[in-house]
Amino acid sequence: MAFGVYVHIPYCVTKCPYCDFNSYGSRGKFPEEEYTGAILNELGLYGEELAGGGLTSVFFGGGTPSLFAPGSIEKIISAIFEKTGSSGGGVEVSLEVNPKTADLEKLKGLRRAGVNRISAGVQSFTRRKLEFLGRINDPDDSVRILEEVPAAGFTNYSFDLMYGTGGETMAEWEGDLTRALSFPSAHISAYCLTIENGTEFGKLHRAGKLVLPPEDSLSEFISYTTAFLESAGYRQYEISNYARPGYECRHNLLYWRGGDYIGVGAGAHSHLGGAGESGWGKRWANIRNPNSYIKAVSERGKPVDFSEELGRDEAVEDEILMSFRLSEGLDIPALKRKYGVSPDISRIGYLREDGFIEVSGDKLRLTKRGALLSDEIIVRLVNSLG
Ligand code: SF4
Repeated sequence: MAFGVYVHIPYCVTKCPYCDFNSYGSRGKFPEEEYTGAILNELGLYGEELAGGGLTSVFFGGGTPSLFAPGSIEKIISAIFEKTGSSGGGVEVSLEVNPKTADLEKLKGLRRAGVNRISAGVQSFTRRKLEFLGRINDPDDSVRILEEVPAAGFTNYSFDLMYGTGGETMAEWEGDLTRALSFPSAHISAYCLTIENGTEFGKLHRAGKLVLPPEDSLSEFISYTTAFLESAGYRQYEISNYARPGYECRHNLLYWRGGDYIGVGAGAHSHLGGAGESGWGKRWANIRNPNSYIKAVSERGKPVDFSEELGRDEAVEDEILMSFRLSEGLDIPALKRKYGVSPDISRIGYLREDGFIEVSGDKLRLTKRGALLSDEIIVRLVNSLG
């Protein structure tokens, strides 16, 4: 059974004001050795969950994994391969890079360490946007990293861009997209800035001090982005992700297709379908605070903070929710095989007639119109299951 391993590195240079990930501004001071040791120990606590074979992807996310030395990353990759019995052949090994924290030497080191896919947090090529977002990278870093990644030997790489920043016009976004296409990357992620509670931007927004583009212009940004990137040979395979054929991120596809993954590191999440007493799956999450995580691994074993068994309905809902993010949509026969249920199309025919969903062959997917009301449509779809 295919599965992936996620490794969370929670440290960043500074905390970006929009970010609600489990990440901590460290100003260059973080316990790399201790944290790497904790990850290795945590991996050692897993037995059969990792030993079954079938590893397809490893993903180093954060935080800023590129703050760590290639030597630390190599130790973790070797331990994962050893625990999973993988030779490493054919396994996608991705690592997120903040442009400010890596140069050509480090990138070459990461490649030697076994990383074969880079995801660079570029976000923009304009000073206004990067400053607005509180990023540590400037436009020169954005360009430099995209020249150095292929120079270090990576053919499979991606970078993130963000739109919907304060006062952003379509012309400014077009500038970013045009610049993006001057780099022959295999994959581009284009995200809309979202305002999350508990972030600096969340506070400013509540206080009325943050100007964002009007909600209804965001679907325009998405349609524009899709047309722009598709005309250059990228295919939108998920709401925010575009890839050249064959370069879709295997690890993220695993999440969106309801696959199995083990997450190690502070706050990392795991999911194993078919596990637990119910037989419908189990998910759990680690302690979020990095120091508490390190302490827990050394003192009490698995650093789990929260875990739950899934019931069938929950597992089905999760799977539908995730599959609707993907352009390929929901695989109806696969849902039937896995959970013994499938949507009764005759009961939700009105959703199709009104242009919210489309059914082609074995696949059911949301239309652009449906994507705007996805929560409501999922409820109706779940109610039609039989
Ligand atoms: S670099 Fe990434 S993970 Fe770190 S604070 Fe900024 S957005 Fe969050």
